[in-house]
Amino acid sequence: MSKVITSRKEDPARWYTDVVTRSELADYSPVKGCMVIRPLGYALWERIQGSLDARFKETGHQNAYFPLFIPESFLHREKAHVEGFSPELAVVTIGGGKELEERLIVRPTSETIIYSMFSKWIRSYRDLPLLLNQWANVVRWEMRTRLFLRTTEFLWQEGHTAHATEQEAEEETLRILDLYCDFVESEMALPVLRGIKSEQEKFAGALRTYCMEALMQDGRALQAGTSHNLGQNFSKVFDVKFQNREGGMEYVWQTSWGVSTRLIGAMVLGHGDDQGLILPPALAPTQVALVPIWKTEEEKSQVREAVAAIRNSLGGRVRLHADMREELSPGFKFNEWELKGVPLRLELGPRDVAQRQVTAVSRLDRKKQPVPWDGLENRVPELLASIQKGIYERALKFRDENIRPSGSYPEFKEQLESLGGFFEALWCGSRQCESMIKEETKATIRCIPLQGQDRRGPCLYCGSPAETRVYLARAY
Ligand SMILES: [Zn+2]
Repeated sequence: MSKVITSRKEDPARWYTDVVTRSELADYSPVKGCMVIRPLGYALWERIQGSLDARFKETGHQNAYFPLFIPESFLHREKAHVEGFSPELAVVTIGGGKELEERLIVRPTSETIIYSMFSKWIRSYRDLPLLLNQWANVVRWEMRTRLFLRTTEFLWQEGHTAHATEQEAEEETLRILDLYCDFVESEMALPVLRGIKSEQEKFAGALRTYCMEALMQDGRALQAGTSHNLGQNFSKVFDVKFQNREGGMEYVWQTSWGVSTRLIGAMVLGHGDDQGLILPPALAPTQVALVPIWKTEEEKSQVREAVAAIRNSLGGRVRLHADMREELSPGFKFNEWELKGVPLRLELGPRDVAQRQVTAVSRLDRKKQPVPWDGLENRVPELLASIQKGIYERALKFRDENIRPSGSYPEFKEQLESLGGFFEALWCGSRQCESMIKEETKATIRCIPLQGQDRRGPCLYCGSPAETRVYLARAY
């Protein structure tokens, strides 16, 4: 079965597409630019949703739902916002067979429609903070499709909050950044660099955009999520005002933040190998695949009995699937569960039954070890925890080995080409240097780290005195 996947070394782009389609995470659709998320991909998304949703609720957010369509005039109220999104808008001009009086935009993001409602709902400081989240689909027109990474329609969550003070909005922006980073590191097992986006890379309409950036195995960065402090940019144009304690009127301070189905692409690129997906146990829809092995009828009945006992002892503790299909060989099943990224496989044959054990095989390193039936209900969760840790540590080691000092500009260009990864550099802060680097190397400033801004030296591009430390990389 591994033959159906092009090796990553040979062609990383082809490898990615092969893994996504052959593992049945997603498929191309008849609509150009749009993908179909298949049951395995959707089950993974549901686990991501479930975990994040619980975290949002723990921090006081509530879910709501707003319309798919946005009146065109709404988008034009915030100048930077409309300029940023115009090239990728889908516009509805006809409805019910008639030309519409006002054209409708299919939401690329929902700040404008949501804040038009906030202006109706927020009256006084008692209505604040207002902490909402929406799980939805959005549309941003794309010319080139890459499943999960770049599609015209994708699924995401967008948080939208309103606060009485600038400080509260800033705290919320950072709280969500922390929440995202913790989720991505502890559950997706991907280490991230966190920081602020440059003016050029920030969200259209934001005061500041905070982000987390992960490194993929091909040396390219992937933006895993963003949290924006919107200041009063939107509240002023949508007239979202509140009466403060002293009776005066003030505009609210706002934040918005989101992660999307792109996270699934990040897990494929960050952990997968030439056998297929490697899913971290915390999110894997199936954590353990139990594959029975038998030849004779007598063995079959013994093995089936043992399968039932193991199911009983592990049931409720781990997400286990016993693969009882009779028309397929054990070898075929092993390959299939490896392709689908199931973290742990338990093989159970007549010899295992005789010794009252199962043979456990980790997806991470494919090492085999016997596990006695006695204590299996504790041992399997332990093995899953060690796989989760192992996946993270491997990704962390790779990431850390691939953060390089930029050196001189020619050295940077050479290493970017030959090695990839993150490059730590000093930048003078000028938009021109940033643009020239992007134009000449296709690398962008991924983030300005929040800590360690005490170095001084020459700007990577122009050589003039610089004091902003940045991470550069080519990115998805
Ligand atoms: Zn410069």
